[in-house]
Amino acid sequence: MPASQAEPSRIRIAIHGGAGDLAPGAGPQPLQRAALLRIASAARQVLLDGGTALDAVEAAVVLLEECPLFNAGIGGVLNRDGLPELDAAIQRGSDRGCGAVTGVMRTRSPIRLARAVMERSPHVLFSGPGAEQLGRELGLPEVEPAYFVTHERLVQLEAARSKGIITLDHDSDFDRAQKSAPPDPAFGTVGAVARDAWGGLAAATSTGGLTNKHPGRIGDTPLVGMGTFADDRSAAISCTGTGESFIKACFGHEVHARMAYEGWELSRACQHALDEVLHYGGRGGCIAIDHEGRISLPFNSYVMFRAWGHADGEIHTGVGPEDGPAP
Ligand code: ASP
Repeated sequence: MPASQAEPSRIRIAIHGGAGDLAPGAGPQPLQRAALLRIASAARQVLLDGGTALDAVEAAVVLLEECPLFNAGIGGVLNRDGLPELDAAIQRGSDRGCGAVTGVMRTRSPIRLARAVMERSPHVLFSGPGAEQLGRELGLPEVEPAYFVTHERLVQLEAARSKGIITLDHDSDFDRAQKSAPPDPAFGTVGAVARDAWGGLAAATSTGGLTNKHPGRIGDTPLVGMGTFADDRSAAISCTGTGESFIKACFGHEVHARMAYEGWELSRACQHALDEVLHYGGRGGCIAIDHEGRISLPFNSYVMFRAWGHADGEIHTGVGPEDGPAP
């Protein structure tokens, strides 16, 4: 536990369930909002009970992985061969301790495995069967790949295959001008960022990646410094969107560098990194909390499923821009 005095008013939590698009008239998304509210409240409770930021982001992402509404764990999107290939990463801001896994289809909770990589191995990043072998050695629960596969994801994969496209879960080929329905109303990648009572930061992200992706494709989520990043001197950041462009933007580290070396404030640094994503042809968003407890939740997609809260008071949920920025 950190040496400094615990001060519960420092507590902050933000989570996301992916950024992307929705059909016109898709409505206020009550199921997703209820899930986000429940999960953000549970993660805040971890912090109020004396848990660290790392504990809170892990707890939030485990719950998000278990929720089939989002593209991670159960309900993660499927690759070209119809298999889940799950990626996850976690980082602690005090010392940049981190762990990540890619291409996992047998470990029940990829984010738990990522934390085990961080805390129980001398390494940082594991892939595929080797990652699963480590999980087995460490006694983490295993499942058959079919455990993660939902009917909706099979339908989504068939739609992508028939069109010969590789899609972001949240980036359907839905054409607003034609007002055609998107092939999949469910949304994306999940993540959490938190600040604990000692002022420590942490970030965690988990995803199925892209529908119909080539087996072995890896996005920004499990790459520490890209889609997942935390440093107590700057901010904790979790991204969602076109992974390739977030990698080119070096998203997490770009935000850190602008804050640490140029003195930019959080929202300016996040917006700048998001502009870089756009420059590299992608879109999406991020959730971020800085060392002073400011929250920033920008996105350049139509929507980003999100929830955020302080130590006390209401947990807010948001889908579109009309739900407002974080206070
Ligand atoms: N960023 C994720 C990836 O590229 C996808 C997402 O956010 O939905 O794997």
